[in-house]
Amino acid sequence: MNERGLLIVLSGPSGVGKGTVRKEIFSQPDTTFQYSISMTTRQPRIGEVDGVDYFFKSREEFERLIKEDKLLEWAEFVGNYYGTPIDYVEKTLQEGKDVFLEIEVQGALQVRKAFPDGLLIFLMPPSLSELKNRIVTRGTETEDIINNRMRVAKEEIEMMDAYDYVVENDKIELACERIKSIVTAEHCRRERVSGRYKKMMGVE
Ligand code: 5GP
Repeated sequence: MNERGLLIVLSGPSGVGKGTVRKEIFSQPDTTFQYSISMTTRQPRIGEVDGVDYFFKSREEFERLIKEDKLLEWAEFVGNYYGTPIDYVEKTLQEGKDVFLEIEVQGALQVRKAFPDGLLIFLMPPSLSELKNRIVTRGTETEDIINNRMRVAKEEIEMMDAYDYVVENDKIELACERIKSIVTAEHCRRERVSGRYKKMMGVE
């Protein structure tokens, strides 16, 4: 039987660049993680494709999935639901593949409880002013939404203590490199591998 894959969670405040870092990681040909596509009730942005960027759902559909326990975690974020379909995650981990989630912090804390072995990585902005810059220059949000996201972001940064690693997003390529290095190291963690090697040596 395959060794179970690792559940990798990339989280951090709104506007820190989680989506950009995730897209960069998955554009690199040597990436072996499987991306778990989230569900959301927010409207698709221009260019977003159902089943690629998100599974876009109505509030009714989403609430039904919550009731039926089909989500590993979910959160209401700035007026919309976001959540991770549990079946895909379970099946993929079972196949021995690493699953990568890119989610906001309330959801990450739920993953911590449901999957204590999960690897939680907090993406940190280099400064607060840089964070505001990024939220503003994204250009798809109204001023109200921007102010609301800044307020939420400050609260989110306070949740850093629940994470295993903190990665600064000063440069996208560097942040990706750090994340991949963390995952590589995590795969070598003694607790994960000692059983396999003891078996190999016949000393179990
Ligand atoms: P956006 O609307 O900009 O695509 O995403 C808003 C926030 O929701 C981002 O912080 C993103 O990481 C987060 N998000 C995306 N998918 C999920 C999910 O499945 N669960 C949770 N909890 N947050 C998510």
